[in-house]
Amino acid sequence: MSYIGHRCACGHLDVHHRADSAGREHCEAVGGVRCGKGCREISASILVPTFDLKGRQVPTVTGPGQQIGKGAGYSRPACACDNCRALHAELTAA
Ligand SMILES: [Zn+2]
Ligand SMILES: [Zn+2]
Ligand SMILES: [Zn+2]
Repeated sequence: MSYIGHRCACGHLDVHHRADSAGREHCEAVGGVRCGKGCREISASILVPTFDLKGRQVPTVTGPGQQIGKGAGYSRPACACDNCRALHAELTAA
């Protein structure tokens, strides 16, 4: 399912980031190790498209705070910040 999130300044999506024991998020996009490009939070929200096995875009958008990534190797709630909520409202308001 598509979801709303952020692209970090390191160039990877927020789902690839994990909080370490100090509560700081770091990027594990490259094989589970830190990508080392320097993470900086970007507040702008983007719609991250998801494709099914046949390459078709999945139209359903997971709401802010709902679980994403089931079966995709990661599992975490979609971001639920104000920007993400606003974008979700915009996208689902049609
Ligand atoms: Zn990264
Ligand atoms: Zn990052
Ligand atoms: Zn957000």
